[in-house]
Amino acid sequence: MLFKDKVVIVTGSTRGIGKEIAHAFAKEGAIVVITGRTEEAAQKVSSEFNNSGLQTTGVDCDVTNFESVQKTFNKILDKYKSIDILVNNAGITKDNLLLRLNETDWDDVIKVNLKGVYNCTKVAVKAMLKQASAGGGSASGGQKGKIVNITSVIGITGNSGQANYAASKAGIIGFTKSIAKEIASRGITVNAVAPGYIETDMTAQLNEKTREQVLNQIPLGRLGKANDVAGVCLFLASPEANYITGQTIVVDGGLAI
Ligand code: NDP
Repeated sequence: MLFKDKVVIVTGSTRGIGKEIAHAFAKEGAIVVITGRTEEAAQKVSSEFNNSGLQTTGVDCDVTNFESVQKTFNKILDKYKSIDILVNNAGITKDNLLLRLNETDWDDVIKVNLKGVYNCTKVAVKAMLKQASAGGGSASGGQKGKIVNITSVIGITGNSGQANYAASKAGIIGFTKSIAKEIASRGITVNAVAPGYIETDMTAQLNEKTREQVLNQIPLGRLGKANDVAGVCLFLASPEANYITGQTIVVDGGLAI
């Protein structure tokens, strides 16, 4: 019960890595807000978790839309009185080689992956700062808030055919370091997790040949599982990580070494 009654928002938690992160926090006693673009999908996951005795709630929150984020987070604040931990996980890919990469696919990926992190962090930090000055909302062990951003190893190494995705994920790393510096003195830590290839709907799109090539480059010899990523998010949000901020932890089976 490491996160008993802490309020945790996980963006894009209707499936894949986000769903696993939400589940992992809920199993540690947190009140977890499951979000996705539609309320129906978010509530479906929330009911599934609540049926096994966990405390979750499902709400719609399109991270690209600042007003939608503000409305959703305010509803959460009204209901639970604080936001202790934010995991910015929502993300998409729209891959193509640069000469075929159209403006819409560039904009869409930047909007969800990077602007989404800005939107959610801005609203959550405002709430966390208020909590900090009111002396409440301690995320864990004296910290006033914890933010974990899901970037990607592709944001560090780059990848042919993923310029939009790599730019958005590299942007998250710079954003993480900057905001960590801005709000460290207020007792809020901001870190990032950079997964390699993890088995989810996103990587199910890889064809057999690419999958084989990827596997050959992973020293640990397997794709990652969503819970490999969730464990690191829990660590970064826990008191054990109180002296860590602005960092990016790579979870890729050794791919980027
Ligand atoms: P999935 O495609 O399985 O899930 C994506 C999630 O994001 C869904 O819950 C989806 O919810 C949500 N989402 C998409 N667009 C929006 C939006 N505009 N607003 C709110 N939520 C949205 O992805 P993964 O689980 O594979 O990836 C999760 C994160 O991990 C992403 O940031 C991804 O870039 C990153 N990552 C993944 C890797 C992998 O190998 N899988 C590797 C490295 C990083 P809904 O459709 O219900 O709206």
